[in-house]
Formats: sequence, C-alpha cells, structure tokens
Amino acid sequence: MDWVDRVLSVRRYSRNGERAPHKPLLLLYALGRFQREGARPIEFSALENDLNELLREFGPPRKTSAGYPFHHLTNDDLLWEVRTADGGSSPGPDLGPLRALHARGRLHPRLVAALDADSALLPRLVRALLDADFAPSMHADICQMVGLDLEDAELPSGMPGRRDPAFRLEVLEAYEYCCAFCGYDGWLNGVAVGLDAAHVRWRTYGGPDQLGNGICLCALHHRLFDRGVVGLSEERAITVSRKYVGRAATSRSLVLDLAGRAAREPQRGLEPVGPQYIGWHARQVFRGPARAA
Ligand SMILES: [Zn+2]
Repeated sequence: MDWVDRVLSVRRYSRNGERAPHKPLLLLYALGRFQREGARPIEFSALENDLNELLREFGPPRKTSAGYPFHHLTNDDLLWEVRTADGGSSPGPDLGPLRALHARGRLHPRLVAALDADSALLPRLVRALLDADFAPSMHADICQMVGLDLEDAELPSGMPGRRDPAFRLEVLEAYEYCCAFCGYDGWLNGVAVGLDAAHVRWRTYGGPDQLGNGICLCALHHRLFDRGVVGLSEERAITVSRKYVGRAATSRSLVLDLAGRAAREPQRGLEPVGPQYIGWHARQVFRGPARAA
C-alpha cells in the first residue's frame, strides 16, 4: 500500500460527517517533530499539552483526550509505535498509565525509512492529511502550530483540480459579491477581491458544491467561520462564540457586534443556506456556546 493511502486509511471514530481528526493531528504533529528533530521517540507527557492544544484549536468542539490518538494510532498498520520505559507495549488510552509508565511514541521505523528515502514524501503526506480533514483556510495555521515548515511549492496541491469553479461564481453572484456577514465588497481591475465562496459543510466531510451549502464571505469572515468563531443559527442569524475575545474597536465592529444580526440572504428566488448544513457546522465546527445577541 502507498504511504499516502495508508495515512488516509487510518481508522477513525467518524460517522455521519462527525469530525474525528485526532489521529491526523497526531500524525501531523509527529511529522513536524520528525522534520525538526528526526525520528527520536516522544514521551507522552512531553507531547500531551501540545496535542491537547491542537485538538482544542482544530478538533471538533466536543471534549477529547490526547491519550486516545496516542494509543489508538498504534492499531493502524506501520504508522505509530508506543513503548513504555521498560519496553512494554502501549498501556492503553488512559492518561494515568501513559504518564506513569513513561510511554513514548514514535513514527514507525518503516515509515521513517520511507521518509528518509524520499524527501518528497513528507509534504505529500502532510497535504493528504490536511485535505482529508480540514477546511483549506485552516491549513497554514495548522502547519504553523505543528511546526511544519513547508514552502508553498513543496505542497503538491490535491484540491484545486477537484474544485468546481462554477460553485464560486454561483455563490458570489447569488450574494451579489458581498460578504454575507459584514457587507464587504471590493474590486480590483474589475475582479472581486478578498471574497470567497465558503462551504458551510466542508467538502472533505461531504459538503456539496451547491448554492444551498455555500455562502459568500470576505477573507476574514471565511477564516473565522472555518475556525468556529462565527456561525449561523437555524434562522440564519449570525452567532459569535463566547470563547472569542477581541478588545480592539475593529474586533468589536467586525466580529462581536455581528451577534444576532441576520446574515445577508442570496438574491430573491435563490436558495439560502440549508438547515442541514448549518446544523453540521453548528455541531462540528462552531465553538459554542454563542454569545448573547
Ligand atoms: Zn466579512
């Protein structure tokens, strides 16, 4: 099996579009460490805080534990090994034993050998993991946080060819080239600039390239929407996470003041964002609870 297929076939607790990026985040973290430090084993207690932070930032809103991916990734073939200080196998996902027995994890030696033999493999694996589990607007933030230093040129892009360019045009036109959250519009030489057609349910989780799953957002609101800072209620009012804090006047006017405001609707007669896609975003991405309007 090809290594890309292997990392993409890790078994996940994932049903009905539920996000479970725990193992991919551990792999990205381990690849970042590998790039900086080589293949030396990482003690659980030395990785626990970093991994928790990654799960909090980029995982689903529900609570989770670093012990799960650290242990369960050992069940997938040839990717990750865990040994205790006395040479035993992984004691399981519970934090107590992982800490007390000084469990150490490392990339599987076969994977390390493959990475050493082919310098193009690491960026390919990173690209595959990012595309499979995270909205495109998050990729650079994740690379930065796991310490992966990848030039753009090194990231063979998988997505653009599969994207539907008609989707972008359809969404931008429907919303008359205005951010549905703040009303931003802008043109450069006759071309809309700083505006995106955002998927409400991410493509990588089965969200279709259809107007009902799209919304026109400016670059800032697209980024904040994918990170769960802002979202939509069933009635398509804008929600703002209580966990988001911003003190500057611009943070207030661009984010906090949006709470409870109606999002812009598409042109009359065109399909607004569907409740099934809003529901997915609210459960899997939005960092609840929402602030009071
Ligand atoms: Zn905006």
